[in-house]
Amino acid sequence: MGDDDLRQGGKVLPITRWGEPVMHEQTRPVTEFDDELRQLARDMFATMRAAQGVGLAATQVGLDLALFVFECPDDDNKIHHGAICNPTVTLPTGKERNLEASEEGCLSFPGAYESLARPDKATCTGVDVWGEPVTVEGAGFLARCLQHETDHLNGTVFGDRLSSRSRRKLDERQAAVAHLYPADWPVSPRKAAADD
Ligand code: ZN
Repeated sequence: MGDDDLRQGGKVLPITRWGEPVMHEQTRPVTEFDDELRQLARDMFATMRAAQGVGLAATQVGLDLALFVFECPDDDNKIHHGAICNPTVTLPTGKERNLEASEEGCLSFPGAYESLARPDKATCTGVDVWGEPVTVEGAGFLARCLQHETDHLNGTVFGDRLSSRSRRKLDERQAAVAHLYPADWPVSPRKAAADD
């Protein structure tokens, strides 16, 4: 299985929601770089696409494992993609550090967005699903995605990073649309809203 094979033919899995214990705990590092791992990454790509997301962590398909996939535009609008195991994120410090506030959402809390300030650049290092070292440098939306997905693998969801006021707004927005997302979404599609 090559890199391109990871992004086709996978099986769509149900997405785990915030509140399930696996979403809020530190994950186990990946130690076996076998076909089973690559099949999981492939299923995660299919699931992310079905949900029209730009990143998906293994915790979001119910697995306690340090792996995420992404397919996300950088600030130059070029789409970057990959599967990263055991990621760590390095953020700029000092004068290089610029916070950018932008709308963020999460497939595990679907349909709700809230502005969150994060560093506008991030470097993510880890290994790919063959066990080879990988480094991804991101700016703009990709920097946000790399931080968001690595957070998931450390048991942090973006709602944890919001002020209590913003978190309340996010919770209200999600509650208003939660009924549109079947329990096994995106295996079953999102329902149409009255105003769709
Ligand atoms: Zn998320």
